[in-house]
Amino acid sequence: MTPIQPADAAERRSATPIICYDVENLPFVDMGRYAAARLALEKVDEVLVPPRDARTFSVDAGQFFRISSVEGSQVGDLNLFNRHDLNERFFSGKTRQLHATHLTRGDRMWSNLPHLRPLATITHDTLEWYGFDDDGGGVHDVIGTRCDPYTQQTLNGTDYHHCCHSNLTRALADATGQPMAEIEHHVHDVLNVFMCTGFTRDTQQYFMKASPVRPGDFIEFVAEIDVLGNLSACPGGDCSASHSDDDAACYPLLVEVFQCTDDSMSGWAPSAPNEYDRSHGR
Ligand SMILES: [Zn+2]
Repeated sequence: MTPIQPADAAERRSATPIICYDVENLPFVDMGRYAAARLALEKVDEVLVPPRDARTFSVDAGQFFRISSVEGSQVGDLNLFNRHDLNERFFSGKTRQLHATHLTRGDRMWSNLPHLRPLATITHDTLEWYGFDDDGGGVHDVIGTRCDPYTQQTLNGTDYHHCCHSNLTRALADATGQPMAEIEHHVHDVLNVFMCTGFTRDTQQYFMKASPVRPGDFIEFVAEIDVLGNLSACPGGDCSASHSDDDAACYPLLVEVFQCTDDSMSGWAPSAPNEYDRSHGR
């Protein structure tokens, strides 16, 4: 049934969109410093994330970390925590509102309320050239969540145990020594690294298409506080066809952690706690 349109429907629709937040007021990001620092990086750690599985990694404030495609086109689901307090974690929704549906160099991964501060800043992105394609798709999205076995059960009535949500749950349980039932609620909406997604033009539905990532591509961050990362190599592989099953070709993802070896980071400070007084008007 076609909805009845009010007489002034066209007028109501013609209101001018305005950007919700004065993003020019966001704290200054010294990308010049980071650009200089990344020329003097020395690798201090690396973790290979197996296909259809997840691994955690630890990055000190001021260190850099890089997620690279190796062997084949593969997307990853990234969780990020304050390493000293798992209750502070990546806030996909606010990050989307402050930056865009898809992230790239210069954008930051913000933490949840009542914290809201940068956990990490993207310092390099070899897929920055992609921009937005003719379908409205872009890479590194913060519009989708992670694939999960509950949605799989709802839609298909089957149990699949290697969705990103389960992979992240197992890895976080291993890292913390906590039972999965107690740690699962810390798994949160992700940065969909390398994933190419958007909303269809006609029905505004979430879509995915084959990731443009190729071996050698990477996205790189500087940790703005001490962070614990958790990365799943999605069972969707390059997400060109399906996910939440074992049908797609899947490849590992490489996480490398780097320390700056010259004085580019001297005088740098971790991001400070948010200054809101939390009185909420009382
Ligand atoms: Zn996934």
